[in-house]
Amino acid sequence: MHLAEISDNVFCITGATNIGVVRSGKEVALIDTGIDRESGRKIMKILENNGLEVKVVINTHSHADHFGGNSYITKKADVRVYAPEIEAGIIQYPYLEPFYLFSAHPVKDLMNRFLMARPSRVDFVISAGGQSEIEFPGTFDLKIVPLPGHSPAQIGVEAEGVLFCADSVFSKRVMEKYGVPLFMDIGKQKETLSFLERSDFEMYVPCHAEPVKDISDLVETNLGLILQVEKLIVSHKKATTEEIMKNICREFGIKPESFTEYSLMLSAIKAYLSYLYNSGLISVEFDGVLHWKIRE
Ligand SMILES: [Zn+2]
Repeated sequence: MHLAEISDNVFCITGATNIGVVRSGKEVALIDTGIDRESGRKIMKILENNGLEVKVVINTHSHADHFGGNSYITKKADVRVYAPEIEAGIIQYPYLEPFYLFSAHPVKDLMNRFLMARPSRVDFVISAGGQSEIEFPGTFDLKIVPLPGHSPAQIGVEAEGVLFCADSVFSKRVMEKYGVPLFMDIGKQKETLSFLERSDFEMYVPCHAEPVKDISDLVETNLGLILQVEKLIVSHKKATTEEIMKNICREFGIKPESFTEYSLMLSAIKAYLSYLYNSGLISVEFDGVLHWKIRE
């Protein structure tokens, strides 16, 4: 992890999850905090080495690798924590993530550091259509940019023309590794991709891809994959969720080998199924198990 300069007052701590750093004098707002206490400790050390002091933490969404460092940072520094609605609930009660992935009290394997970070307090909840800026001392405010899709109420943060765009797009490398990345609301994800395509920020910093000046390629790759998965699903005449998942895994060369991998993949597939069903493109038949049917 190290501090990379993007513009005069905007930096990025690069790592498994890229962390945004916006400076006003020696005071800093962090965008996301990494996966665990150790990430929080490393971030604090980097700031300290650069004579910086954290005052604000903004979590873009509630996946463990974006807020896991909160518990350390909120103990060590006097900070205000901001998070979007819905996501704020999970950040305060991280049990909800393995709970929703399993849709009951989860198997113990799901209560791990990738899916259940330590809880953090949230001081300010950012509601959709509400607050669009976070006051930050200095010459500019931090603009909240809604980017829902990957998670229900994900946000990005813009400062000095740089958009920290969280997990709204994934790199080709991540897609090759995971096959079908997790988008939890396909309709909203498509709208977010279309917004990004039309946007003209000077720089985009995704959490799991290199910063880019032009986001078109990333948008195109992510949208292409979504359309490919949709097409695969509607190529089934009648199938159960698990049959569809098995075929998609085969097509993308994915072999889930743990509850974590299996549950995330299932969640990703279900997002497509609810989107296609709610759009009237597929229907269902119940006969002890649920069969998805393509409307002819
Ligand atoms: Zn995420």
